[in-house]
Amino acid sequence: MADDCLFCKIVAGDIPCEEVYSDDDVFAFRDINPAAPTHILVIPKKHLASVAAATPADEALMGKILLKANEIGQAEDLHSSGFRYVINTGKDGGQTVDHLHLHILGGRGLFWPPG
Ligand code: 5GP
Ligand code: ZN
Repeated sequence: MADDCLFCKIVAGDIPCEEVYSDDDVFAFRDINPAAPTHILVIPKKHLASVAAATPADEALMGKILLKANEIGQAEDLHSSGFRYVINTGKDGGQTVDHLHLHILGGRGLFWPPG
C-alpha cells in the first residue's frame, strides 16, 4: 500500500467501488467515468506505479492480470463482439492514477487511432 494512492485505497476498501473480481493478487472494478458500456479496471493489489515500473519479479503477476482480464471479459460477454485493453503510462500516455491499471473497454465499436 502506497500512501496517497487512490487505487491502493480502493483495494483496502477505504474508498468504495463497484467490485468485479478479487483474489490474492488481482482486483477489478468498474471505472467511475465509463468511456464505453463496459469499462473495467484490472489492477494488481500490490502497489506498482505503472507498467513501466514492473520488474522480472512481476512476470507472473503481469501475466495474471492479462488472463484475469480475459476471464472478466468473457463473463461480461465481450469476446464475441470484441474489446480493447489499454494501459496508459506516464504523462504522454495519459496516466492519471499512478497505480498500474489495465482498462477493459467494450460494448461498442471503438475508434482507432486513439487521440
Ligand atoms: P488513466 O487515465 O490513469 O489510465 O485511468 C484512470 C481511470 O480511473 C479513469 O478512467 C478514471 O475514470 C478512473 N477513476 C478515477 N478515480 C476513480 C475512482 O475513485 N473510482 C473508480 N471506480 N474509478 C476511478
Ligand atoms: Zn497504489
